[in-house]
Amino acid sequence: MTDNQPIALPEEAAPLHAVSCQLCELANQRSRVIWGEGNPEGRIIMLLDNPGAREDREGRAFVCGTRATLQLGAAEAGLDMNDVYVTYVLKCRPVRKYDKETARNRCRAHLLSQLEQKRPKLMICLGNVAVQAFFQDPEAEVKQLRGSWYDIAGLPTTVSYHPLAVRRRPVLMRMFVEDLKRVAARSVEIGGASIVPSGEEQPEKGN
Ligand code: SF4
Repeated sequence: MTDNQPIALPEEAAPLHAVSCQLCELANQRSRVIWGEGNPEGRIIMLLDNPGAREDREGRAFVCGTRATLQLGAAEAGLDMNDVYVTYVLKCRPVRKYDKETARNRCRAHLLSQLEQKRPKLMICLGNVAVQAFFQDPEAEVKQLRGSWYDIAGLPTTVSYHPLAVRRRPVLMRMFVEDLKRVAARSVEIGGASIVPSGEEQPEKGN
């Protein structure tokens, strides 16, 4: 374990075209649209499922369990969080039942616009919801896909467990750190030109 203390990463404000988004029914549940946090120019994007209560309440910059576990894993893996941007499949916090498939499909346009604008080099999807949404495969699961790289929407993409799952099941931490180490190593390998997302899913390639 390390002595690193988790910190609240700076939030990036939603752009004007998205700040009042009404594309799905979550517009009626959220307090606000949450675009992402961390380094907006970071080479690595981490994808979570959706914002939680912490993010939904503007100005509450404490470090939740998800972030604490994520940063702990990153520190253990030697992954520089200064090179990371964290965002969500859904940019709004759900508080009631909703049509998940429709919301994920509609919010994908925002995610793809982020990738096009930011041009990151690597993606890691954290948790089955993020994996299924980004891979556009409702059967995709972390435990089957982790350990390899895939070309999704033009981005080298890998997967790991949701930090909250790791927090609840500490036995997962070893694999979580392994997965983040893979990202750190790949980040060093491809330190050159940035990747331009194509928006199209490509055939799988191994690691
Ligand atoms: S979840 Fe995404 S698509 Fe739905 S209202 Fe929020 S920003 Fe728009």
